[in-house]
Amino acid sequence: MIAVRQPSAVPDPLSVPANAPEHCPGTESDLAGKSDACAGCSNQEICASGATKQPDPALPFINDRMKNVKRKILILSGKGGVGKSTFTAQLGWAFAADDNIQTGIMDVDICGPSIPLILGIASEQVHSSSSGWSPVYVQDNLGVMSVGFMLPSSRDAIMWRGPKKNGLISQFLKDVDWGDLDYLLVDTPPGTSDEHLSIVQYLKGSGIDGAVLITTPQEVALQDVRREIDFCRKVGIRVLGLVENMSGFVCPSCKTESQIFKPFTGGAKRLAEEMGVELLGAVPLDPRIGKSADYGVSFLDEYPDSPATAAYLSIIDRIKEILGD
Ligand code: SF4
Repeated sequence: MIAVRQPSAVPDPLSVPANAPEHCPGTESDLAGKSDACAGCSNQEICASGATKQPDPALPFINDRMKNVKRKILILSGKGGVGKSTFTAQLGWAFAADDNIQTGIMDVDICGPSIPLILGIASEQVHSSSSGWSPVYVQDNLGVMSVGFMLPSSRDAIMWRGPKKNGLISQFLKDVDWGDLDYLLVDTPPGTSDEHLSIVQYLKGSGIDGAVLITTPQEVALQDVRREIDFCRKVGIRVLGLVENMSGFVCPSCKTESQIFKPFTGGAKRLAEEMGVELLGAVPLDPRIGKSADYGVSFLDEYPDSPATAAYLSIIDRIKEILGD
């Protein structure tokens, strides 16, 4: 297991039961001590007794921090590699293009934190003060927190079980001095895992405004989005809509459009109709999106004439409209 560089004068975020199994349902959940994952766990007796079903002591502190955050939006995807973190970064840059809007990006893709690289701040470190951990700022009104800032090297793999991940997410919400934010964008790992359950649990008091689901046109990606929508419904998160990424390819030279990932089963449009959610828009492939992410610059600023930029901006406008902003 790798060592994580901790900002000084900050309590250890990982002081959670290290002996809990990977799929621990949470010691305060109704399934504590009773789920399949609990079989053989050394805490099973105490968890099953109900003694652990106390409200998480972090919740009041999280609620206090989050009262200064106007909108909290989750960015989800069923699969990896569909452009979720790139979308999160563009959304962050687009919000922050307005000097009057304060935006935060919280990267809880703990095993694959890519937000620092995409935003061009991979070499930065987190600092702490008496008011908590300071986000790393891309610009004055765009702050970021990611476990990526705490790794000794970008080559290090993180192999943490659920309770450790939960501990860090709790700390990101409780101890990061986000200040007053208009938008907090939470970039989550693909699928529905411990990190998703943690976010939902920790933000249940302060509320989540909605989730944006990112997919590509192929059925293999859409299948997983169905599960993601189901997850949102089960935990009571409003689905703001779907974004279809890699939706056609517009040649930057001749402007001819071709379908690289053909939507043989109708793509996100059909899925949105089937599941009763809104298709926020479709972003065509543009090789310069990847280049911008590698160089840590805003694609929207660099290539304002790209059809992909037009698509991003239209989606972002729609998200604001849905939220009533
Ligand atoms: S810590 Fe409690 S809730 Fe978690 S797996 Fe063990 S018995 Fe189950």
